[in-house]
This record gives sequence, C-alpha cells and structure tokens, in this order.
Amino acid sequence: MESISEQEFRAEAIHFLESNSSPKIEVTSGWGEGSDEVSVLPEQTLEEEKSNLDAARTWAQKRFDAGFGWITGPPELGGRGLPRNYQRIFDGLEARFETPNMTVYGIGLGMVAPTIQAHATEDVKSAYLRPMHRGDIVGCQLFSEPGAGSDLAGVQTRAVRDGDVWTVSGQKVWTSGAHLSDIGEIVCRSDPDAPKHKGLTAFVVDMHAPGVEVRPLRQMTGGASFNEVFFEDVRIPDSHRLGETNGGWTVALTTLMNERAAIGGGSVSGSGVSGTERLIELVHHEGRSDDPLVRQELAQIYIAGRVASYTNLRAMAKIAAGGLPGPEMSIAKLSLTLNMRRTSDLVSHVLGPKLVCDSGEWGTFSWSRYVLGVPGMRIAGGTDEVLRNIVAERVLGMPKEPSGSGR
Ligand SMILES: Cc1cc2nc3c(=O)[nH]c(=O)nc-3n(C[C@H](O)[C@H](O)[C@H](O)COP(=O)(O)OP(=O)(O)OC[C@H]3O[C@@H](n4cnc5c(N)ncnc54)[C@H](O)[C@@H]3O)c2cc1C
Repeated sequence: MESISEQEFRAEAIHFLESNSSPKIEVTSGWGEGSDEVSVLPEQTLEEEKSNLDAARTWAQKRFDAGFGWITGPPELGGRGLPRNYQRIFDGLEARFETPNMTVYGIGLGMVAPTIQAHATEDVKSAYLRPMHRGDIVGCQLFSEPGAGSDLAGVQTRAVRDGDVWTVSGQKVWTSGAHLSDIGEIVCRSDPDAPKHKGLTAFVVDMHAPGVEVRPLRQMTGGASFNEVFFEDVRIPDSHRLGETNGGWTVALTTLMNERAAIGGGSVSGSGVSGTERLIELVHHEGRSDDPLVRQELAQIYIAGRVASYTNLRAMAKIAAGGLPGPEMSIAKLSLTLNMRRTSDLVSHVLGPKLVCDSGEWGTFSWSRYVLGVPGMRIAGGTDEVLRNIVAERVLGMPKEPSGSGR
C-alpha cells in the first residue's frame, strides 16, 4: 500500500487543483444574486446533458490520472488504496474549486460500482471499475419495472441461460440516466418457479448491446432524465453475472443500501438548495419573517435538516468502522425527504400564487420545479411508506408485514 502522510496528500491535492482549476468565487447569498435554480431533478435538454457529460468526463479523467479518482480503491483494480479520510480531505478541497457537475456519475459510482466490487467476477471488476472511476463509462440501475417497484422481488424481465450465455427479455422503467449510460446493473427473473426472492439473478449489461432500446420519459417539470428500457433477446455472458445464480436479491440489497446512503447524504433541502439560506431569504423577501408560524416552520426545517445529516454521519461512521449498512440508511433517506416535503409546504404557503405564476421575478416561480420534484425524491430509492415499514420492523421491532417488506 502507498505510504503518504495526510499532509503530503493534501499538498499534492492542492497542487493538482490549483494547476487544473480555479478557486470558486464565493456567491454571497443575497436575494437576486446568481442563479435562482432550486430544482430537484435534472431539467436539461439532451444537448445540455451531453455537453455536461463531456465536461464531467474531462474532469474525471484528469482527476483519476493524477491519483484522485479512486482514492480508497484497491490498487490491483486501479485505486490508490488509501483510507477513507484521504477521500474526505480531497472532497473538502475539491469543493473549494470550480469543477463540472458530476451528477451523471452518481448512480454508477454510488450504487453500481460498489455492487460490482462486492459481487462481480475478477474479470468484470478489472474490466469496469477502473473506467467507471476514470469517468470513461457511465452506469445505470435497471431495477424497476411497470409491475415491480417497491415490490422489487416481483421483477418479470426474464433471463434464460444457455451454456455460458444468458438471454434477457423484458422491460425496465424509471431508469435514471439510461440514455447516457454504457453499462447497467440489471435484476432479472431466472427461476420463475422459485419463491420470488429466490428466483432472481443480477448482471452487468452492456447498454450498447443489440436488443437494448432506451426511450426517454418526460417529467412534469420539463426535463427527461428517466427512461423506459426494453430488452429483446439481449445476450449477456455468464461472466457478467453478479453473485450467485438465483442470488440476485442479495446483490440488489447491496445496491439499495448504497442508494439510500447516497440520497440520504444529500443536502438539507434538496440538491439545488444550499442549506436553509435560500429559504430564509425568500421569507424575508416576501415580508413574512415576523409571522410566528412561518418562523416556527423555518426552525423546524433547520432542526430536522441537522438531525438528518447527523443520522447520515452516524450511518457512514458505522460503515467506516467495518459495520454493514443497516436501517440507518432508511432513516437518513426518510429524514431528508420528510424535510423536503416540509420545505415544499412552507414555500407554497409563503409564495401563494407566485409559485405558479411565471412573472419573470427572480427566486419565486423557480420554486415550482422544487415543489414538483419533491414527490419524486419521496419515491426514488424506497418510498416513504416502505422506509417507514423498514424502520417499524427493524428498528422498533414491530410485527412484520404479512407479505414481506418490499424493497
Ligand atoms: C426520481 C426517481 C428516480 C428513479 N430512478 C430509478 C432508477 O434509476 N432505476 C430504477 O430501477 N428505478 C428508479 N426509480 C423507480 C423507483 O425505484 C420506484 O418508483 C419505487 O421503487 C416505487 O415503485 P413504484 O413506482 O412501482 O410504486 P409502487 O411500488 O407501485 O408504490 C405505489 C404506492 O404504494 C405504496 N406502497 C407500496 N408497497 C407498500 C407497502 N408494502 N406498504 C405501504 N405502502 C406501500 C408506495 O409507498 C407508493 O405510495 C426512480 C424513481 C424516481 C421517482
């Protein structure tokens, strides 16, 4: 393992960042300054998404080639083999510099890559993990189907084995980023006669393989970051299987835990809003800062946001100490989305008709995208109701649901 002190690593990282980027210009959070974007889901045109991907890829490649792309990864797979706190040091420093938006890699690196690392054959690990961390390829999560969301174990996309090759046919839906992806993690039904959790197998599938068709789905806010993905006799080598044949449920759980951690680790009131400052400015601007009910709600949002981030830190500390991700992930995600709903309600109350009227005024109508995006966050990665079931059963020890607890 490489031996480098934290101090040396920090100096190396600063040198890289100063040579390849420029320090972020602090935007003071005054009303009317900078962008008023607060949307939760990506709302770009395909051209904008592609140009963002180009910029993100260039940065990811530079970062990886300089030794900062996979700081904690095993050296034999292309990582640097350093402890987690080195990653934290780099993240903290990188956040002070101008860098492209890297969201396009979120699902691949946050959910698919850890699953590949935990469950793939050595060949697949060698083939994909390095290029994923270098930004050469993008990954997506092919779990949900029209008839299987919360009840993920009900997936019907079929995988049939013939020698060393599997043939996959069926349909996935709500696949974020499939239109920009090179590989996907897919969960299929491999044994239709087994009990539903025991008849699943997971694979890494090439999104450019013959028989894969990606069709965009339009969001009510305008963007199209989800897709339907159709598979027609798509051939997947057995070497691309994740985990055991019919052991796909265990593989899917690895991904879901990482998904909840990734969403639960988000910012206090939505990806586009930094903390509660923007909300406080809005309340001032609308002349509502003396309203006791508004003040009380603001305080609640602030407190709940802190609780959500501490819960997430607790979950992360458990993993860093070698523990397995547990129900803390569900609590962290649930806390975040409950607070987003609270924020949504407060904004709607304060803005009234301005929320739905595009008057061109800075910082008012822009909240409509936030309000319309929050329900999606309450569904993605396990709905509020399903996460409450998990907390009820696994934290509070309440009786199990008769049919199993879904995702
Ligand atoms: C923003 C976003 C991004 C997404 N990205 C992806 C992706 O990249 N890949 C992917 O595979 N999927 C993705 N999804 C899909 C997501 O995982 C599913 O929408 C989710 O699991 C819910 O499934 P469903 O939509 O089929 O709803 P259903 O499961 O049909 O649920 C409908 C309603 O019933 C409730 N319900 C269901 N079961 C129970 C129960 N046991 N107890 C109480 N209430 C219950 C739910 O809470 C919900 O209110 C995404 C979804 C969103 C919104």
